[in-house]
Amino acid sequence: MALNLIMLGPPGAGKGTQADTIARDYGIPKVSTGDILREAVQNRTEMGRAAKARIEAGELVSDEVMVGIVRERLERPDARRGFVLDGFPRTIPQAAALDEMLADRGPVVVVDIAVPQEVLVRRLLTRRICSECGTNARPDDVLSVLCARCGGKLVQRSDDNEAVVRARLKTYAQQTQPLVEYYRNRQTFRSIDGNQPPAVVTAAVRAAVAAVAAGRPV
Ligand code: AMP
Repeated sequence: MALNLIMLGPPGAGKGTQADTIARDYGIPKVSTGDILREAVQNRTEMGRAAKARIEAGELVSDEVMVGIVRERLERPDARRGFVLDGFPRTIPQAAALDEMLADRGPVVVVDIAVPQEVLVRRLLTRRICSECGTNARPDDVLSVLCARCGGKLVQRSDDNEAVVRARLKTYAQQTQPLVEYYRNRQTFRSIDGNQPPAVVTAAVRAAVAAVAAGRPV
């Protein structure tokens, strides 16, 4: 059965880390809209140039652009057997557009990863990512300067500084948190405590996926 999984949650909740693990486990692509935008910024494409200022202000890129990116990505052959969405949808109109895109593609599991705000701020301000492949460094690995996966240099994201982190959390509260209510009443929704070790969170995500596959309410 295809696995269509949406990772919801605030910035710093661990969506990307969990999405990486689950995508690898199930042999399906991780689709991270943040990664797609950062690559566009790095390559100075037209879309990247337009998105840069919004990303660095902690604001959202337009629904129209984001829905177009995701529609194109989910139509590629490698996403036919499913996908893990990380960072999309982030607004009600994006969620509505996604429902329409997925109408004939089987159940969609929605996992919301909840983490207290002060933990998010701490995580975001100490997070480092690889400048080459975009992978997050392990949070407990503060000594390495190079990426464990590809050897690239570890750097701080340009939007992981105090002012932008506060703006991103505000944007989340205003525009993305309402999605929890949008999805909450579905049989395939589950909220998970993200303030636990990554492996414990992964086990909870897997349990939610297994329950949906077995037709049990999660
Ligand atoms: P992320 O890596 O998911 O934290 O995304 C980084 C930034 O990219 C966000 O703060 C937004 O500016 C932008 N972005 C990523 N995904 C979306 C989305 N679905 N809708 C609008 N903007 C997005």
